[in-house]
Amino acid sequence: MLNVSNSADPAGCKAKASCGDSRGPGDMDPETWEKVKNHPCYSEEAHHHYARMHVAVAPACNIQCHYCNRKYDCANESRPGVVSEKLTPEDAAKKVLAVASTIPQMTVLGIAGPGDPLANPDKTFRTFDLIAEKAPDIKLCLSTNGLALPDHVDRIKALKVDHVTLTINMVDPEVGERIYPWVFYKHKRWTGRDAAKILSERQLEGLDLLTSNGILCKVNSVMIPGVNDDHLAEVNQKVKSLGAFLHNIMPLISAPEHGTHYGLTGQRGPTAQELKALQDRCEGQMNMMRHCRQCRADAVGLLGEDRSKEFTLEKIREMDVEYDLDKRQAYQTQVEAKRLETRKAKEEGLKALEDVTTDLKILIAVATKGQGIINEHFGHAHEFQVYELSGGGSKFVGHRRVDMYCQGGFGEEDALDTVIRAISDCVAVFASKIGNCPKDTLKAAGIEPVDRYAHEFIEKSALAYFKEYAEKVRRGEVVHIPRGDAEIRTGALVSAGATGEDA
Ligand code: SF4
Repeated sequence: MLNVSNSADPAGCKAKASCGDSRGPGDMDPETWEKVKNHPCYSEEAHHHYARMHVAVAPACNIQCHYCNRKYDCANESRPGVVSEKLTPEDAAKKVLAVASTIPQMTVLGIAGPGDPLANPDKTFRTFDLIAEKAPDIKLCLSTNGLALPDHVDRIKALKVDHVTLTINMVDPEVGERIYPWVFYKHKRWTGRDAAKILSERQLEGLDLLTSNGILCKVNSVMIPGVNDDHLAEVNQKVKSLGAFLHNIMPLISAPEHGTHYGLTGQRGPTAQELKALQDRCEGQMNMMRHCRQCRADAVGLLGEDRSKEFTLEKIREMDVEYDLDKRQAYQTQVEAKRLETRKAKEEGLKALEDVTTDLKILIAVATKGQGIINEHFGHAHEFQVYELSGGGSKFVGHRRVDMYCQGGFGEEDALDTVIRAISDCVAVFASKIGNCPKDTLKAAGIEPVDRYAHEFIEKSALAYFKEYAEKVRRGEVVHIPRGDAEIRTGALVSAGATGEDA
């Protein structure tokens, strides 16, 4: 008899319609769908097909968070606040055109630091002005801590920036004073509970102003165990009541080598299951984003990849940049055709599952380069996408960063260990190819290596696997053992081969 594990999760998604950012055109009004359909951060489905870029034009910040320190010339770390080079608005516009002409599926330009865009309003708005003029089809996006937000809503609206992300980690200053040592407001530095109170009031005022002006808002919250983990459900309710579209609860990134306050004082981040349990708990309240990669402030490419090193200022100067709107649109028409095929494949998978009745719920990990296809070798994956499978269907529930197992043509045992720790809550791992060596180690860890669905659609294959799995369980060929938890990787990148992963 084969012993296979089950990650039962009573708090999981009960109805597919509540699965937030995986929703499609039938689940929202046409105007909102138009805004989110090609936005890789606002639509989980779009993130398999469309790319984004950040430009690092905003170095200054007006608050201090205990999880942040900004680095301006760092190529090896991948987390918010880190960039390789700061840009002027003019350089940023050149870079956007260079990326848009090379990566036609790049649809979104975000300004997310490395400081706070609204603590650098002239640079931020000048950049948006230039891009709106030169590349009018690109969506403009802004991420802010919210302290200066109420002063800039009119300008944001006038520039047609219709997606704004606000980081809100608390609505209670008592919690806030453990996250923010100070804020700089009205020419004065505030500390302690006063600082947190000012920040919270300004954030909520800004959110209210944005949503009442029809601007789509995503709220980011960093989950900090023992500090705000219990409090984030309250944050979720508050931001929902103020009209936020999406809530993105992210794990704290904290490692001593980052040099942040939390990193140096040993504050841990959540485990994979702690994060998922909180996201599941909040999911009934509003749409949850689970595919955020906590990108660098100069990230370029699909979420989960970073091509920023191809677009340094030096390289852009040598590039032949031709911004051709027709070419971009023609390419995106092809992307839409592929996206439709992926959606149809998922529908077929769901149809095949109709006759299966089971309470089972399992997680699987998938190696993919994008487009909703199992098209990455196990040894080349620098992240795995995790799906939850149940009788109700499949749902994307997150990603796990890993060191690539295959380094220079050889398997790296230490890296394999990190992969197993990162996906140890999964019953199986899907990849286009898996070598015999890692296969044996995966099996010994209770994770089934699956490469028989190479180059097929992820969700259709995953649902077929789940159906088979449930039948084996019913026939008594499989026994469930709770899989337990997994590690979220938050340390600095150590592998040169891992080309600028998103944090
Ligand atoms: S940090 Fe998250 S929300 Fe921002 S671009 Fe990356 S994936 Fe999207």
